[in-house]
Amino acid sequence: MLTGEHRLPETIFAPEGNVVNRLFEVLLRDADQALAMMFSDTLKRIQNTWFATGHRGSCPSCSCDLLIRKGWRNRVLKTSRGTLGVAVLQAKCKICGRVFRPMNELIGLPFARRVLDEFIEKAIHLGINLSFAKSADLLKHLSSSTLSAEGIRNKIAQVAASIEFSANVDKATVLIDSTKVKAGNKDRGASVHLAITAEQGPQQAGRSTIRKRLLHLSVGSEDPLNARLRDLRPAHLVYDGGSHVGDIPAHKQRCRWHLVHQLKHYLWQDGVPFDLRGHCQEVLRHILWDKKLGKKRFKHFINELAALGLEKSATHLRQASNEAFTHYDQPGFAYSTTTPLEREMRELNRRADVGARWSVKGIENVLKVLFQLRLNKSTA
Ligand SMILES: [Zn+2]
Repeated sequence: MLTGEHRLPETIFAPEGNVVNRLFEVLLRDADQALAMMFSDTLKRIQNTWFATGHRGSCPSCSCDLLIRKGWRNRVLKTSRGTLGVAVLQAKCKICGRVFRPMNELIGLPFARRVLDEFIEKAIHLGINLSFAKSADLLKHLSSSTLSAEGIRNKIAQVAASIEFSANVDKATVLIDSTKVKAGNKDRGASVHLAITAEQGPQQAGRSTIRKRLLHLSVGSEDPLNARLRDLRPAHLVYDGGSHVGDIPAHKQRCRWHLVHQLKHYLWQDGVPFDLRGHCQEVLRHILWDKKLGKKRFKHFINELAALGLEKSATHLRQASNEAFTHYDQPGFAYSTTTPLEREMRELNRRADVGARWSVKGIENVLKVLFQLRLNKSTA
């Protein structure tokens, strides 16, 4: 046979125009078989070497280290390229006769690990973006293994339980906000509470970026958020007025955007016609962004509203007066609105809105992992 005349498996000879597709399929099968073999062989070699060089621990029953080899125990490991068979080295204690697998932990195969991290990561990436059923279906189509919807949910719960958010706020500006999701048994749903730090990041392609870090995420009562804020002791806090943050020791700024937005609702309650509401909001916007005379004009505006009998609107602003201009008086506020959080809130609603009703813990787990990956860049 001449060079270049290797016999090719007949399976490659496919109908016209389909050779590349068939070739890929055939070679991939070979490659996966080779991967499985190499994985198993290499893992065996590592264990043999370690056992021979004394990395073998001691008997879990009697603690003695007189151990002899006692064959292999077969295990299976799910990966994105299929299920791999692997062998774990067994040893026998010479004193008490106990048979055990001394290297389980060392090689990273504790009894609970049935699935490789890389496959779990893929499953989680799908699961935080799509419904669990859809994720399981896509995983089946895009990888050589499967994980059930329930399995994906459990993996996400495990990761969520292990997440600990940074406790270091330093001098950064902390933004908090909440939004409703369809979860729990109340008709109106449950509230998701978010706290992040936001700082101006570097310019990228001529646009300013925002560096955000997740500090807290919980679903349900706002008590956990408030407890967290008391621990964090942020120097600068921006909020929308909804939370009871009265006892949090911080320089507080009411979100300027929310103040204007919320006014519309109170004007409506006070019976102000539609056209005029927009005008009043515009006036307030100018006042809040007026560094020099804003405070004075704000007081004047409140008096005007009260004089017109618009009591709900006046009260709304009166209650915010001590916190509407904090960022002009106190240096160090990176933001005076919760706008950097809005994008995260949109992302949050996108994932939460799957048509079905969530359990409170279920949606909290998904969102925790989603934002840990989005903002804190890791699951660890
Ligand atoms: Zn023993």
